[in-house]
Amino acid sequence: MMHDADILIAGGGLSGTALALALARAGRRVALIDPAAVETRAAEGFDGRSYALALGSVRMLRALGLGGPLAEQGQPILEIKVSDGRAGEGPSPLWLHFDHAEIEEGPMGHMIEDRFLRRALLEAVAADARIDHVAGARVVGQHPGAGHVTVTLDDGRQLSGALLVGCDGVQSGTARRAGIRRTGWRYGQTALVCALQHERPHHGIAHQFFMPEGPLAILPLPGNRASIVWTERDARARAIQALDDDGYLAALRPRFGEFLGEIALAGARYTYPLELSLAQDFAADRVALVGDAAHRVHPIAGQGLNAGLRDVAALAQVVDEAARRGEDIGAADVLARYARWRRFDTAALAVATDGFNRLFSNDNPLLRFGRDLGLGAVAHLPRLRRSFIREAAGLTGDLPALMR
Ligand SMILES: Cc1cc2nc3c(=O)[nH]c(=O)nc-3n(C[C@H](O)[C@H](O)[C@H](O)COP(=O)(O)OP(=O)(O)OC[C@H]3O[C@@H](n4cnc5c(N)ncnc54)[C@H](O)[C@@H]3O)c2cc1C
Repeated sequence: MMHDADILIAGGGLSGTALALALARAGRRVALIDPAAVETRAAEGFDGRSYALALGSVRMLRALGLGGPLAEQGQPILEIKVSDGRAGEGPSPLWLHFDHAEIEEGPMGHMIEDRFLRRALLEAVAADARIDHVAGARVVGQHPGAGHVTVTLDDGRQLSGALLVGCDGVQSGTARRAGIRRTGWRYGQTALVCALQHERPHHGIAHQFFMPEGPLAILPLPGNRASIVWTERDARARAIQALDDDGYLAALRPRFGEFLGEIALAGARYTYPLELSLAQDFAADRVALVGDAAHRVHPIAGQGLNAGLRDVAALAQVVDEAARRGEDIGAADVLARYARWRRFDTAALAVATDGFNRLFSNDNPLLRFGRDLGLGAVAHLPRLRRSFIREAAGLTGDLPALMR
């Protein structure tokens, strides 16, 4: 049977565009569907986040032809410093320090702003003749059949393929229509996100301060700039976001400290409510889930997109190997291989990020003492420290070929 594409992808966010490229580069024909116009998604203020991309993700994006934007607009992460902190007190004296010099592979990863990464992915998609980018249309129905799946779009069109991949985010309609249930909860925390200009150079060092209300990440961007992910309880975050720019900076300064000198806002301010959401299965009849559609985790470790890109690399590899063997790429046993590969890794990430957030986002003196002891112990155990660095760099576990 002749399909409109080999693979239909619902959702043209970062996961969906990366997956479209990975599949197309391996010779598959792809239809990529997203309700937002390309110009909307490529616009400057579309999303205020910047991403800490682990080395494994960087390798994959380079393999997909995005080495240029990463080199020009990315900031290598050379060191990570982690400590307990309290507003106005500065970081605790027990630092945990991860230095890329302790591993052979180079920087642990790169920071890149959404506006550069998203635009680069969209441009690469537009340049690949094997990808039909159906922008401005929403998937509203899916109908698996013998050897194919058909999707219905909100403008009435129908498209068919051998496999449908849901990259449609945490509210994934693809998962819901396939009968896949989710587990998870809201954290009652919101991330305040902005870019800052600062007086002194950051030397490629990322900082994570564990405050009682939630973590504050100060992540290096090119030049004397940093991306801030500042977690607060929901009501407090709403109040801070409602302040004018001066009030916002006045609230941030005691938490941020003075180690980078004077700070000023370098763009708009954004908020993101935080939640854990894990799909109970990553595959169903002719359907696979990728990215936030499969798992949304707390950004405490900056791993959500990295996990989504691992899904992309794993699914692209499973599909490619199946096609080479002459298998039906949407068959249940093929999709089960993908689900098995990614399910455990992602559940472990969800448990770890959830546990870290609970352990660190409080001011219990006993826990604080224990945390400081733990940070101090890791600081004095080089082998354990190196294994943390390799974990943060995305170099552990069963790595798909695209990340090697
Ligand atoms: C504050 C914060 C900081 C973060 N920092 C990091 C970090 O440093 N490193 C990291 O790895 N991760 C980080 N993350 C996680 C990362 O942002 C997400 O994991 C990632 O953006 C998810 O991308 P996605 O494409 O899977 O989903 P989404 O971005 O949600 O994209 C879903 C797409 O599906 C489309 N869609 C929805 N419904 C339909 C439909 N019916 N039909 C077709 N299309 C549809 C939407 O329009 C959208 O384009 C952070 C998250 C937060 C909140």
